[in-house]
Amino acid sequence: NTAIVLFNRDLRVHDQPALAAACERAERVVPLFVLDPAVPEGPRHAFLLECLADLRASLRARGGDLVVREGDVVRETMRLATELGAETVCAAADVSSLARRREQRFAGERIEFLLFPGVTVVPPGALLPSGGGDHYRVFTPYWHAWQRHSRRPQLPPPSRVRLPSKLAAGRLPDPGRGGAMPGGESAARERAARWLRQGLDGYADGHDDLAGDRTSRLSPYLRFGCLSPLELACRAERSEAFVRQLCWRDFHHQVAYAFPQINRENYRHGERRWRRDQDALQAWQAGMTGMPIVDAGMRQLLAEGWMHNRARLIVAAYLVKCLGLDWRAGARHFFLHLLDGDVANNCGNWQWVAGTGNDTRPNRSFNPLRQARRFDPAGRYVRRHVPELAALPAEHVHEPWRLPALPAGYPARLDGIGEEPNRGN
Ligand code: FAD
Repeated sequence: NTAIVLFNRDLRVHDQPALAAACERAERVVPLFVLDPAVPEGPRHAFLLECLADLRASLRARGGDLVVREGDVVRETMRLATELGAETVCAAADVSSLARRREQRFAGERIEFLLFPGVTVVPPGALLPSGGGDHYRVFTPYWHAWQRHSRRPQLPPPSRVRLPSKLAAGRLPDPGRGGAMPGGESAARERAARWLRQGLDGYADGHDDLAGDRTSRLSPYLRFGCLSPLELACRAERSEAFVRQLCWRDFHHQVAYAFPQINRENYRHGERRWRRDQDALQAWQAGMTGMPIVDAGMRQLLAEGWMHNRARLIVAAYLVKCLGLDWRAGARHFFLHLLDGDVANNCGNWQWVAGTGNDTRPNRSFNPLRQARRFDPAGRYVRRHVPELAALPAEHVHEPWRLPALPAGYPARLDGIGEEPNRGN
């Protein structure tokens, strides 16, 4: 018999439950990825192509291959299944509304469709609050339950993947990228090993230091499943601070699973009125708001396809709380540029910041200047990302408006409301 393993956001061979199950139960295994022609080109797409090239190499080293097709995922999978006489499709269960619709469509096809865990440490829906409800709405009780939950065993990579004969693997487009963070499981495992050796122990104290850049930068790899989140959580066990962040990832996934419209609708109601101001939105997107800490974050995003978590919090709060713009506009821009952009984490965090999500203090006040002084005290993060301000000393770098004249090319402040932009933290 023949089984298709439909890869999606689980682009690895280590601890890959769908692949392991197919190799165990079927004589012939067909690893498949279907490219969606509707996905725009860009850095995240290029990263995906690198992940696929690496996965193909790993599968070939085990006697297999990665079949690549392009088009509608259900139609292409079913077409291949008919060609090869495959009886089973194995895939990882996922949470977004798009993924759920795909799963429903497969369930209506004439084929055995099996779903496996692997996208999160604890599968969404596995933990239910004792007081009732279909998911946890507050992080701390979820974290306690998550820590107590028994974990499935990790799976070694299959030693051999037996393909059917005469299989056309299909061409993989050239990513044409070559960024500082190459996509793929090999790069992910190298980065994770280095991080666990050298970075993990400094994480609890250093993760909020913007200039120190002391977080793992594993998010794009987790996004595409180049690393098993379960394996990472087990190997990082000695740092509760780091494991807690992996739990935040699971938390947002279980919310998105229960509330699939998270990308469109406020999770917590009590609608706010948002301002419409296209110029302000564009200035924010370009990193030209005149608030240095915000501009540094936004320019890091454009340059690297990644932004430090503290900067994400600052720029997001600035958009919704200082400029009064709709969080959805911010989330769309992030999603376009982030290598790690994914619906559950992106919209979950945006809604948290906007006060429409899971924050137990949704009206938390916010002061970007105070954040800047606290998390970038010497101004190194700003100088690194905003060249117009690179020559300013620490006392002016966060407040260039105090100088007799603004540095050439740097804009006046967009929020323009007095000297202290909002009170609060
Ligand atoms: P580390 O600090 O090393 O953390 C390890 C891992 O834990 C991360 O790789 C990530 O998978 C997970 N994690 C850490 N913080 C969070 C968090 N707050 N929520 C969920 N998971 C977390 N993360 C994404 O992966 N994709 C997104 O699209 C995304 N959008 C965001 C939007 C906003 C407005 C904010 C405030 C945060 C967003 N985050 C998102 C969460 C977080 O900023 C990134 O996961 C983190 O900065 C990635 O860097 P790292 O791998 O070095 O993180």
